[in-house]
Amino acid sequence: IKPDAVRKGYTESIFDKIQMEGFRIIARKDTLLTREQAEDFYGIHKGQPFFENLVNLMTSGPIVVAALEKSNAVELFRTLIGKTNPQEAAEGTIRRLYGETVSINAIHGSDSDENAQKEVRFFFSENEVSF
Ligand code: ADP
Ligand code: MG
Repeated sequence: IKPDAVRKGYTESIFDKIQMEGFRIIARKDTLLTREQAEDFYGIHKGQPFFENLVNLMTSGPIVVAALEKSNAVELFRTLIGKTNPQEAAEGTIRRLYGETVSINAIHGSDSDENAQKEVRFFFSENEVSF
């Protein structure tokens, strides 16, 4: 959950929705990204015109990170959150419900199994999650 959604008090509503869709929460915690961590996490986007803005937003306040489990989780979670731009996201998706703009879009979701594994490891140590 990105800082914009945490700030607006949407965290619990979003987690309720995630669990209602059958995702199991393996681990969850509140944290705050340093500038260096945000630049690293979104390293793939370095050089994009929106990169600086993305790092500023992602370090603007607390975030809530979670490791989720479900069969076909990556694809189903991407469907649940909706398109990057909340205005283009389908009705009922998390970004449509809780996002505002393409940059202020409430939530992140891993885009492949490989990246999901990397991103879980980015936030959690081996004694917090096992897979
Ligand atoms: P997603 O989060 O849907 O996987 P991307 O990986 O393409 O999307 O981009 C990562 C994040 O960077 C987005 O969630 C959004 O916060 C920001 N972003 C992407 N494209 C733009 C853009 N054109 N303008 C502003 N911010 C953007
Ligand atoms: Mg992405």
